[in-house]
Amino acid sequence: MHTKRQHYEELKSIWNEIERIAFELSGDSKIYKIGADPRDFNVLWRSYIISLNEKHKTSIDKLKQENEIERPSRNSSSFDLGGKEDEELSLFNEMPLEEKIMKVNVFLRTEFYYCYFCNLKYTSEKELFQNCPGIRKIDHE
Ligand SMILES: [Zn+2]
Repeated sequence: MHTKRQHYEELKSIWNEIERIAFELSGDSKIYKIGADPRDFNVLWRSYIISLNEKHKTSIDKLKQENEIERPSRNSSSFDLGGKEDEELSLFNEMPLEEKIMKVNVFLRTEFYYCYFCNLKYTSEKELFQNCPGIRKIDHE
């Protein structure tokens, strides 16, 4: 049986993967440096930047502490956003996962002729439209 919970887990793993793909295809993976400001990146895969930063957070915090040994310790949560709210990302995150996945997929299709559900990068828009059944997962089943 396909429970709601399983469905959510499945969407979550698609989301994690499609974010990473967008990060790589867009070329951001080449310019990203640990600790980069997530707001410099497209909101579609910005949470991926945050998670990358999180992964390296411990080492960065240590580095910061060594550099700022005289200053009082700062709130570590200010690390991601420089203390500012990221309204664009909050709004984006209010969307259901399914919609977020679709937005990224549409972006990848338009910019790179890549369809996540076909798992293929086509050579042209024409080829994509001829071979890909649609923008949703369900179109590919
Ligand atoms: Zn497709």
